Amino acid sequence: MTSLEFLGATGTVTGSKYLLSAGDKRLMVDCGLFQGLKELRLRNWNPPPIDPASVDWVAMTHAHIDHSGYLPKFVKSGFRGPIYATDGTADLLRILLPDSARLQEEDAEYANRKGFSKHKPALPLYTEADADAALKQVRPVNYNQSLDLGGTLAVEFISAGHILGSSFVSVTDGGAGDRPIKILFSGDIGRYDEPILNDPTPVAHADYLLVESTYGDRNHGPQDAKSSLAEIINRTSARGGKVVIPAFAVGRTQLLLYYIRELEDEGRIPILPVAVDSPMAVSATKLYLRHKEDHDPDMQRLDDAKRNALATRNFLLVESRGASKSIDAQKGPAIIVSASGMATGGRVLHHLAHYLPDANSTVVFVGYQAQGTRGQRLQQGEKEIKIYGEIIPVNAEIESIGSLSAHADSGEILRWLSGFKEPPRQTFIVHGEPHAAKALEQKIVSTLGWNVTIPFYRQSVELG
Ligand SMILES: [Zn+2]
Repeated sequence: MTSLEFLGATGTVTGSKYLLSAGDKRLMVDCGLFQGLKELRLRNWNPPPIDPASVDWVAMTHAHIDHSGYLPKFVKSGFRGPIYATDGTADLLRILLPDSARLQEEDAEYANRKGFSKHKPALPLYTEADADAALKQVRPVNYNQSLDLGGTLAVEFISAGHILGSSFVSVTDGGAGDRPIKILFSGDIGRYDEPILNDPTPVAHADYLLVESTYGDRNHGPQDAKSSLAEIINRTSARGGKVVIPAFAVGRTQLLLYYIRELEDEGRIPILPVAVDSPMAVSATKLYLRHKEDHDPDMQRLDDAKRNALATRNFLLVESRGASKSIDAQKGPAIIVSASGMATGGRVLHHLAHYLPDANSTVVFVGYQAQGTRGQRLQQGEKEIKIYGEIIPVNAEIESIGSLSAHADSGEILRWLSGFKEPPRQTFIVHGEPHAAKALEQKIVSTLGWNVTIPFYRQSVELG
């Protein structure tokens, strides 16, 4: 008997975890951390919903923490099997998991200092040593190669175009009936016609499909991100100000660098100093350049011509904290790309403290800004903001470029689904807020007429 249990990413975009049981073997696809609402975050702290020691393998769609951040806890709780991931994902995990552990340790330390935890002392969900232990179980695999797991299962990774290494995980089960069945996990689906990474790969067949619905209720709109960026850079540099861009270290930073480099090549903006100020963004940028198997045809042409597609003419990768501070001492226009993307922490904070009071400078938000973050409050036009306990007046221009999301929108999800030659027997809509999942369900039913359902937390379904 083969069954599938939904252990996360139901009614939310976080905590992705799906358990496939085939005979006496168990495969977990993704092992993500719950984030956001307290009710969800508490699930990270509960005992694992299944005994990790009873799971044989884990397969990863990609490295984002909401898909991978539970791995250290899972291993600490007894999982001993291999964690299969593409090369790009494996390399990103080596950056992201220790960083996630450091944040957990800082949270615990903060709770102890402020004395607000009911546990004495408050302990981190996991430590850097736990993250290192989990990384030892990671086994890199190539795209498009069927890997026999054992039992009746085989797994294959298909490029998804979302971030470096991202993939659809396709599982074949030979023991579910008279013929093998295929279960496809979409993970997060990327964008079409974006630079650097390949488009989402079309998939022709699946018996069961799990599809994400982050933007199931939205289209990103026709805004031309590159032209918007050019206008902002030109306007700000004419005033002699700095362009400060809070950006996610993995994905958005590299896309920005690609566009800025291209705008320079096309003579559409002046050559300015461009600083990437985030140790994680610096490491991720190097990985994006190194993993040529993920590059789209334009990026490959630049590789062949020995051009660094992610470096501008006057380019600075900032690793040390001292060098980071010295950027602000330099006069004249410049572009600073720094994390975190929602201005909730990281080095971007001291650049914001420095440039928000400056009416000549511009702060540009390029990703989703969650409720209550500094990023969202600045977007809403707040005139003062607290950073490091100080009230900072906001005189700088505040801009947003929304079309730089890494997720397929509703139209792009439908475009990917239209690649299937026949409808899956059952499609499960996951990884979305309830209204987004519902909107996507209606759209799939009305345009494709498929058999669609929105699973609930811990629901188990029989396959085959
Ligand atoms: Zn993702």
